[in-house]
Amino acid sequence: MSVYVVGHKSPDTDSVTSAIAYAALQKEMGVDAVPAMQGELNPETEMVLNKFGFSAPEIMTDGAGKQLMLVDHSDLAQAPDNLGDAELLAIIDHHKVGDITTNNPIIFNAQPVGCTGTVLKQLYDINNVAIPANIAGIMLCAILSDTVMFKSPTCTEADKAACEDLAKIAGVDDMQALAMEMFKAKSAVDGVPAKDLVFRDYKDFDMNGKKIGIGQLELVDLSLVAGIRDDLYKACEEVKADGRHTVLLMLTDIMKEGTDLMVVSDDPSLIEKAFGGKLEGNTMWVDGMMSRKKQTVPNMQKACGC
Ligand code: MG
Ligand code: MG
Ligand code: MG
Repeated sequence: MSVYVVGHKSPDTDSVTSAIAYAALQKEMGVDAVPAMQGELNPETEMVLNKFGFSAPEIMTDGAGKQLMLVDHSDLAQAPDNLGDAELLAIIDHHKVGDITTNNPIIFNAQPVGCTGTVLKQLYDINNVAIPANIAGIMLCAILSDTVMFKSPTCTEADKAACEDLAKIAGVDDMQALAMEMFKAKSAVDGVPAKDLVFRDYKDFDMNGKKIGIGQLELVDLSLVAGIRDDLYKACEEVKADGRHTVLLMLTDIMKEGTDLMVVSDDPSLIEKAFGGKLEGNTMWVDGMMSRKKQTVPNMQKACGC
């Protein structure tokens, strides 16, 4: 029976490439491992796989009866369905420890670094397995994506060092150019329905009884969404109408390193308080805001009295 290696729901570049890279490492160690993902590729990941000659992993959303290795998450809500009926063999991650438990000992390697790709680079090295050039390429892309080319507050020295090594192996001379190519792909909004854009990278949170949804679009330039702001706002209103106290859409300018925060809320003053600014129309510029995990969520939790 094959072992499935799979990342989180709403797969991002790290989740998909880490499934491929860890499955390849497991294969080297004699395990019949197969990479999988829990949903369709986003435009950035599609570009990355094409560039380094990989086809999309198969889609797998139900763990029942399967042997699984999880990458880039350890939360039940982000894992395949019916995890309780699966046999979990490993978790490789870089987030806070989630709520998944097991009956048997497993491989568990989570580190406070910016990307699962960085943890995998170390695992290849520890096991003395040479990283093939095309796999080094996609691991490099994952780290550049998760750390927003080292600009995110989640980035560590280990991430930068891993990228230096991986770029050499992959034959990438210009990391910055590669990152820009990815960010342009990630910024693609033309012809995509506004609601799909709100949900492209979206998570719901319970903050002191308030249901708060936070989406993020990472853009190389805010002018890309200038013509669709009203549509995005309407889409946020629709999402909020579905029982939420607040919907925030982070329109993040990854070059200017800040976020124009679109706000639909029962209590807009709560958001002004959370980020120490004033709404102008529907949005508020928050300088330096790049990370939902490290910046938006903690400030909102504090404002909600969590
Ligand atoms: Mg991820
Ligand atoms: Mg990640
Ligand atoms: Mg991200």
